[in-house]
Amino acid sequence: MVPGSNALIWFRKGLRIHDNPALQYAAKDSQHLYPVFVIDPHYMKPDPTAFSPGSSRAGLNRIRFLLESLEDLDTSLKKLGSRLLVLKGEPSEIVIHCLKEWNISKLCFEFDTEPYYQALDDKVKSNASVAGIEIFSPVSHTLFNPAEIIQKNGGRPPLSYQSFIKVAGQPSWSSTPLSTSLSCLPPIGNPGNCAISEVPSINDLGYEEIDEDERTPFRGGESEALRCMKESIEDKDWVANFEKPKGDPSAFLKPATTVLSPYLKFGCLSSRYFYQCIQEVQKNVKRHTSPPVSLLGQLLWREFFYTVAFGTPNFDRMNGNRICKQIPWDNNDDLLAAWRDARTGFPWIDAIMVQLRKWGWMHHLARHCVACFLTRGDLYVHWEKGRDVFERLLVDSDWAINNGNWLWLSCSSFFYQYNRIYSPISFGKKYDPNGNYIRHFLPVLKDMPKEYIYEPWSAPLSIQTKAKCIIGIDYPKPVVSHDSASKECRRRLAEAYELNKKLNGMVNEEDLRKLR
Ligand code: FAD
Repeated sequence: MVPGSNALIWFRKGLRIHDNPALQYAAKDSQHLYPVFVIDPHYMKPDPTAFSPGSSRAGLNRIRFLLESLEDLDTSLKKLGSRLLVLKGEPSEIVIHCLKEWNISKLCFEFDTEPYYQALDDKVKSNASVAGIEIFSPVSHTLFNPAEIIQKNGGRPPLSYQSFIKVAGQPSWSSTPLSTSLSCLPPIGNPGNCAISEVPSINDLGYEEIDEDERTPFRGGESEALRCMKESIEDKDWVANFEKPKGDPSAFLKPATTVLSPYLKFGCLSSRYFYQCIQEVQKNVKRHTSPPVSLLGQLLWREFFYTVAFGTPNFDRMNGNRICKQIPWDNNDDLLAAWRDARTGFPWIDAIMVQLRKWGWMHHLARHCVACFLTRGDLYVHWEKGRDVFERLLVDSDWAINNGNWLWLSCSSFFYQYNRIYSPISFGKKYDPNGNYIRHFLPVLKDMPKEYIYEPWSAPLSIQTKAKCIIGIDYPKPVVSHDSASKECRRRLAEAYELNKKLNGMVNEEDLRKLR
């Protein structure tokens, strides 16, 4: 690289200054540095036909979180003598245009495993290579390079957490210091004929703001990510004793886990930096929990799903996915809508779905409950439909992790004990017998006595009247009877598993139709 040349850093995820090797390399020896973010209509354009405000891909809460993250990044870049250049359009076309317009000789962007970005990146990379532009695309969104793990495992991703841990070992960088700060950046050159703008607001993108009450309480950006991470790991005992399955999914005033997932999703927080900070705490305590249940273990779950997703064609669907059991799920749009819109009549399930819509985040076990309920537990609706709802509404929506967990929860892959079903009545009660979580997210039930809060349909009419909540009028009756629905789900899954076994996974559409 000749000193005095122009570099472009293309931000997509990795919306941070700390531990950002692409930014670091782009800045080195460059005369001008162009920090770019492209507003992708595929992700950001309002879709008035969608079931909730937002684009066809993302709900408004996640779009707002992204814009806040861009604002924060812009502020940090300004402190370093630069700024964020926002452009709009199909990202690969925009970047290719900018490379030419700005006479770029070095293009840097974080490696992304998602198929959508892989396709974009291939286009941009082939164009840049033809033009003789140097490309630097480091792996920094994950702890490991998924391609290396797959190679170490003989060309296929490890399909269990334990085998993943064995193959992965310790990350090579785990005890070397990561770059956490930059003192200044090269200036921006002439923007030429490229339509650059400031970070847009929700209104600039063509959205109307939603009520405060419907907005996620989590604020986007690296500054907030680092503040929240520090707050989380300040309590060393809490970190040392972190045991995921013991957390209370109904705790909403002080959630039982870190709530760092939205920041990790957008790369406002580096998973490597977070990993090192946890390691530091663990070094200084006498005893600590271990993977899979420890806090470090949670980051390794993330790695596991990223690796399997990267190495499995058609990971996000049942058809053509070699690790996914072929199951003849029902296409019941009414049941799907009742689940999505928090109208199942099971308060525990509906409260979680309201938290999803309003906060874009729920505890892991709460996600388990609603995913199980929709698929193999009660409604027998296709996991892809539930995945789509989560993908849209979660602020932390992450392609690899979301698909991986839906495959898991529907017993389509990774986990096969379909007889173990979460009860939509007794599971939540164990943690929150008074139903405070339900009362908060479903205020229509706030005066229901605790004896009936998980099964309000069983309350005598006089109690319903006193609680100002008549079941069937103010709050729905249950859409199914849990006892019979879950029994039927088990029976159908047993049948589907038998067929998958017989045909060694080679089930076709005709076989599935026969089972419906
Ligand atoms: P913590 O327990 O504090 O864990 C720290 C970090 O570890 C998380 O932020 C996350 O990056 C990672 N992590 C934790 N649990 C898991 C897990 N089971 N799998 C992979 N990574 C994990 N997580 C997402 O980030 N995005 C999603 O789209 C997503 N979809 C899910 C869908 C379903 C059906 C289920 C059951 C789980 C899903 N999860 C998803 C995983 C998990 O529920 C969240 O990562 C976690 O609840 C986030 O809260 P936290 O940051 O407080 O987690």
